[in-house]
Amino acid sequence: MPDLTHNLEAVRQRIALAAQAAGRDARSITLLAVSKTFPAEDVRAAHAAGQRAFGENYVQESITKIEALADLRAALEWHFIGPLQSNKTRPVAENFDWVHSVDRLKIAQRLSEQRPDNLPPLNVCLQINISGEASKSGVSIPEAAEVAQAIAALPKLNLRGLMAIPEPAGSIKEQRVPHRQLRELFERLRNDGLALDTLSMGMSSDLEAAVLEGATIVRVGTAIFGARDYAH
Ligand SMILES: *Cc1c(COP(=O)(O)O)cnc(C)c1O
Repeated sequence: MPDLTHNLEAVRQRIALAAQAAGRDARSITLLAVSKTFPAEDVRAAHAAGQRAFGENYVQESITKIEALADLRAALEWHFIGPLQSNKTRPVAENFDWVHSVDRLKIAQRLSEQRPDNLPPLNVCLQINISGEASKSGVSIPEAAEVAQAIAALPKLNLRGLMAIPEPAGSIKEQRVPHRQLRELFERLRNDGLALDTLSMGMSSDLEAAVLEGATIVRVGTAIFGARDYAH
């Protein structure tokens, strides 16, 4: 197992330095530890090292992990961040606290219908396809306002903000461009009257650029848990 205490501290330090450079309070940025492909015991160890929010990409893997960590359920926050097919929404609606990867209205409608009445509304972000996304999913910038308004009207969802997965770029200056586009869209939607407070952007290799452009959640996997082995 990697030294999670050390890695988490190093990532928190990176966030703190970037926040300082941006003139922001580091407490306005939530670290989401992306635990996909890593075992429940790594999540347990990260929790013991002070980490609360975890991100998962695969429905079956994540439900198994959430069940294995049922004793910690009240202390953890689970965020679904992977591509979501419409026939797989129910376990996500029933088990997660957040979904960052809502990329069309139909998915949002199903999540709202399937969210159990005894749970609070599911927090969601609309995934945006900024030009040249690493992932092909996401609503285009011109379509975003209409889809966001429709999602905001759904009863069992709480539309919190926007998410994107920009193509990897070399320099911080280049990395900031798509993050800035996402923030500008976020500001336009807020000016249109949507009560959004979340910009989910930035990963292991570009979290500084994301924080400089206003990220409120950074999603970090490799820098915490190490390289992923998809063979297992
Ligand atoms: C895997 C993943 C991450 C974490 O990426 P790292 O480069 O390992 O930090 C973040 N966001 C999404 C949507 C992911 O799928």
